Amino acid sequence: MSEQIITLTNVSKHYQAGQSAGVSDINISIRKGDFVAIVGESGSGKSTLLKLIYGLLSPNAGEITFKGLHLPGPHEKLIPGHDSMKMVTQDFNLNIYARVFENISGMLSNEDVEAKQQKTWEMMEFLSIDHLAEKRIVELSGGEQQRVAIARAIITEPEILLLDEPFSQIDAVLKGQLRADLRRLCTFLGITIILVSHDPTDGMTLADDMIILKNGKLMQRGKPSDIYNHPKHSYTAGLLGNAFVLPSSEAKSLGLKPGKNNIMIYPEWVQLKSSWSSRRYQIKDIFFKGFFEELLLERDHVKIRAINLQPGSFKKEESVQVVLTRFLEFD
Ligand code: ADP
Ligand code: MG
Repeated sequence: MSEQIITLTNVSKHYQAGQSAGVSDINISIRKGDFVAIVGESGSGKSTLLKLIYGLLSPNAGEITFKGLHLPGPHEKLIPGHDSMKMVTQDFNLNIYARVFENISGMLSNEDVEAKQQKTWEMMEFLSIDHLAEKRIVELSGGEQQRVAIARAIITEPEILLLDEPFSQIDAVLKGQLRADLRRLCTFLGITIILVSHDPTDGMTLADDMIILKNGKLMQRGKPSDIYNHPKHSYTAGLLGNAFVLPSSEAKSLGLKPGKNNIMIYPEWVQLKSSWSSRRYQIKDIFFKGFFEELLLERDHVKIRAINLQPGSFKKEESVQVVLTRFLEFD
């Protein structure tokens, strides 16, 4: 059993009395060394949860502990924020007229100047920004600034690194690099990382442990692959996998026995065959996605989506047979 580093017990935070906005009755514990992703639509309470864990907000009810000890909130501390944690938000909090080197080394004391310099170089190398050491922050791109902010956060060796939407300001190539860097921080430096993202792909790619929020409530929690394959709610399936949900009355059109529950299907669970069948769907639209296509199909006003791994093999308006490899049912 690995050690629990953060535990939330019945934690609620409501910004205004009587209102539900914030988070409600959250029970989670976070394992030391894990990469945790908090995922949910905008306004679901992700940032609130992150600020509670860091100690920037106090819960209205419940308790948060760090290594078994009460976590002090902003009213119990001179400088809010836990000493063993660092948080990087979208406004990087850098000294924009100072050089990269000074921004990072400035986090360390002057007791041992040589060690301070060496550690700063090591951090910059680890995040591939050593060639930028002499540049001022204003001369850097958004992605480079973000690396400096992360280097600055981890040079003091925090046990937990909290990241709020770190991917929101960078392009796809940098996003891939940053994902790899964060994974390395967690694996090689042993830092527990808690990441908030409105894009669930970030969480699914990186996390050991994923927390799904909706309207401030914990919907599901677990390994990304378990949550993806066994979502408990259609909200989660829609968030993670572009799933579509059909009422039970449409079961027959898919060759299923009508039950009393809604049917949820990921597009990759739909197989298409050109063979003849009495239940044929018409291809209404084809969306080119590079190595695959997403197809929009319709039959008697029932719309479904499918993935086609052989782009070009189907034509618009063509009718095809639909075979499901899997489906889920929800209340
Ligand atoms: P997310 O990060 O998932 O977008 P937030 O945690 O920022 O969500 O917000 C959750 C809910 O709490 C939202 O409804 C938001 O409007 C509300 N909220 C967040 N911060 C405040 C605040 N300082 N005062 C009042 N309401 C807030
Ligand atoms: Mg937020």
